[in-house]
Amino acid sequence: MFWIDDVAQQINKAFPDKEEIIIRDEKTASGRVHVGSLRGVAIHGVLAEALIQLGRKVTFYYEINDCDPMDGLPVYLDQNAYRPYMGKPLNAVPAPNELGKPSSTPTATNNFARYFGNEFVEVIAKLGFNAQIVWSSDFYHEGRYNGWIEKACAHPDKVREIYQKISGSEKSEEWNPLQIVCEKCGKVGTTTVTEFNGKEAIYNCEPNKVTWAQGCGYQGKVSPFNGRGKLPWKMEWAVKWAALPVDVEGSGKDHNASGGSHEVSEAICKEILGAKVPFNIPYEFFLFGGAKMSASKGLGATAKEVSEMMPPELLRFLMIRTRPNQPIDFNIEGDTIPRLYDNHDECAAIYFGQKTDTPDLGRAFYFAQMDPQNIPARYFSRFSRVAFMVQIPHLSITKEVEKLKGITLTPEDKKELEDRVAYARRWLDEFASDQAKFQIQTEIPVSAASLDSEQKKFLQAIATLLQENPSLSGEELHSKIHELKKASPLEAREAFGAIYQALLGKDSGPQAGWFLEALDRTFVIERFKAIN
Ligand SMILES: [Zn+2]
Repeated sequence: MFWIDDVAQQINKAFPDKEEIIIRDEKTASGRVHVGSLRGVAIHGVLAEALIQLGRKVTFYYEINDCDPMDGLPVYLDQNAYRPYMGKPLNAVPAPNELGKPSSTPTATNNFARYFGNEFVEVIAKLGFNAQIVWSSDFYHEGRYNGWIEKACAHPDKVREIYQKISGSEKSEEWNPLQIVCEKCGKVGTTTVTEFNGKEAIYNCEPNKVTWAQGCGYQGKVSPFNGRGKLPWKMEWAVKWAALPVDVEGSGKDHNASGGSHEVSEAICKEILGAKVPFNIPYEFFLFGGAKMSASKGLGATAKEVSEMMPPELLRFLMIRTRPNQPIDFNIEGDTIPRLYDNHDECAAIYFGQKTDTPDLGRAFYFAQMDPQNIPARYFSRFSRVAFMVQIPHLSITKEVEKLKGITLTPEDKKELEDRVAYARRWLDEFASDQAKFQIQTEIPVSAASLDSEQKKFLQAIATLLQENPSLSGEELHSKIHELKKASPLEAREAFGAIYQALLGKDSGPQAGWFLEALDRTFVIERFKAIN
């Protein structure tokens, strides 16, 4: 069974009586969001879709954490200009301008976290995941967590014990699971609560609590409710589960290690808050490689960038075809995108019943669709061939694809083809290796002069073949060229090299039969005849 069907059925059984199943995932808006964060979105989003198809009512909350302190400076920001904001909640830091410097004074809807969070939210929408977006600050300010903060902080000794027992982390006897946004300097990463009486917290804003931010030394007493206080993150995670309450929430491998944050939050959730721990789906990393993407960005590709390199269905497909417990290692360069398309098309063929093996893969195609209720049957031209065709001058790609399909293209076929043409051009511009790229030389390339007499004879033979058989298909041409090669003393590399040298001025190129078939016949015949 495909993993999405499998996990959706497990969840369906785990909550037989719940009227509505609540799914949640979260991302901290500490800068541009890496494409890897889409894996969590996709896993939760697609499970929500699968459960709805099983007849369940589901809400998928995607929370952008904008309350964590700024504790690091991304390389694309002006380091000096942003340093004074270190330690402040991300929603109280100004959004950057084009120069990476702080822009206007932060407001509730225009700040650092909103700036980067909104960019990610747009990608989530583009991929068709129906997530209800929530901002942590809204929940804090609305007082949603007030009761839970009270409960969480009533027995700090028990919380300390859990931290110690599970993660081995020792907290001092004055430690409280609470921080306060300093009333004087506005920082939250620098404060320590020394006492909490259930209504007000006494806190210090410490100059040396953390290495990345400096507190102002203020000492105060204030109510931690309605957004003035913030829970430390493992406690906060448990409170978020309890407050909605959350039924299903997966999390990355790093959180699920033994003694790790998930285990600590589980214990807090059960023992301190008396709430249920959500159904967990631990998932592996999505690793993104490619020197072109990582060099200048400092963190690799962002979700937004990758969402512009391929259609949303293909990005969904990339994110969901692999089981959550398997890592995804994706390198954008070379042939990765054409191979992803090939794999996608193979799954489509299974879905449409043109192939009968491994029905699981048909489900991968199904769940990758933006609207699984309405999947138009359509002809998929192989991406690598489209990338080849867009490089041939004066070629009617539609006609070529019609020849391959055997009948007229439907409007759905044409739309799919247009899409692939656009993405193929982008791929050739940005990521394709030199092997996949070529340019038909309008004059005889200088390098063709170095072809030997056997190679020249081979080209003459092809010219004659083309002249005598004007209607050979690409496939027929392919086998005829192979026969000619066998009849000559040339090695394959020398024979095909002659074709590419004559037309492209380089040693390699696209598959010869298709290539010659796609080019203007008269042009090829004249070119080959001229090299003798
Ligand atoms: Zn302060």
